[in-house]
Amino acid sequence: MSDIIPQEFNLQNVLTHTPGGIYLHIPFCRKACSYCDFHFSTKVSGVEDFVRALLKEIHNRSWEYGSVQTIYFGGGTPSLLSLTQVEQILNALSRFPLELKEVTFEMNPDDADSEYLSGLRSLGINRLSVGFQSLRDHDLAWMGRTHRNSDIISIPEKVAKAGFDNYTVDFIFGMPGMKMSEWIHQLEWAIGQAIPHLSLYALTVEQKTLLHHWIKKGVVSAPVEDQQESEFFAAHDFLTSSGYEHYEVSNYGLPGKTAIHNQSYWSGKPYLGFGPSAHSYSGKTRRWNVANNAMYIKGVNEGAVFFEEEHLSPKDVFNEMVMMGLRTKMGVNLEMMEKRLGRNLVDYLLKAIEKHPRNEVFLVFENRVFLPFDLWFQADGLAADLFFV
Ligand code: SF4
Repeated sequence: MSDIIPQEFNLQNVLTHTPGGIYLHIPFCRKACSYCDFHFSTKVSGVEDFVRALLKEIHNRSWEYGSVQTIYFGGGTPSLLSLTQVEQILNALSRFPLELKEVTFEMNPDDADSEYLSGLRSLGINRLSVGFQSLRDHDLAWMGRTHRNSDIISIPEKVAKAGFDNYTVDFIFGMPGMKMSEWIHQLEWAIGQAIPHLSLYALTVEQKTLLHHWIKKGVVSAPVEDQQESEFFAAHDFLTSSGYEHYEVSNYGLPGKTAIHNQSYWSGKPYLGFGPSAHSYSGKTRRWNVANNAMYIKGVNEGAVFFEEEHLSPKDVFNEMVMMGLRTKMGVNLEMMEKRLGRNLVDYLLKAIEKHPRNEVFLVFENRVFLPFDLWFQADGLAADLFFV
């Protein structure tokens, strides 16, 4: 089968002119949430040293890119940065040729005071991502969140007053003990507030988290797949009938409010990641910075290597395109696949679909391959069946 892999794997021509995004990982949180396995440290006294190293990394790598459409401050908790630090980072990024459409800033609800929000807006941040997770104080307490319902309910008014017309909020569903009526109540509230964008994630139990430990000890019950599936479908019905577009497994937007930055990831555009544990993708290579704040700072300051990098094979790119595409409304773009990988791999994909025991579930039209939304919950498994191995 290896003869269908292109000998010449050079994506440079396709990607040089493709604008992409910049991701900044701010690796600090006030407190560890019980379910979280992202990279962060609770030693917030290290923020200043980290920002100095981050500015240096941005400076050293500013030759790496063509043009930038989106910037995303993620973490961790970016709202632990002072406004001065946010400004320093944005100034450093102005070394890149910017054609900015979206600048997103993640924050916790308890950091959203009016002065901070207005400050962010005046620095050019035009989209917020606020981690609600749940409206129920009971859930927020066991999750170890630092905010409560009272911090959440004032957010829509506060962000509007600060001049933001675009923001997204996260909710977690499929939590042990949550009734369907309670889940629907949260969505009703969000719809009533006309929140422009929602990301809804099924609770997952990651190794080495406190939640994993509690479940192993029997202190908390494990999430139930049937409950998660019915809450997923209920959210879809409820939100789409209220005008939201369900455009990726976990993401819903009101018209014109879908996330540009995340869509670049799903459509295979290149991006640069700065900060500990941040990933970068050139289309041909993937690079990831060390997930350790001290090693990152030392590496940047001493000019040592603080990242690993792998060269992607056509097979890796093919599998990623299938995996990402089937989780979205846009599907797998066959024209893009042909441009990047050649016709043989497109034919391989179409053949793999034909041979699949459930081939009728894959919809092929307008040069794209889709899954109907009711199979998005199984998208990862179905995509893996089509992988080039
Ligand atoms: S605030 Fe976010 S990144 Fe920090 S521990 Fe909680 S979930 Fe993880």
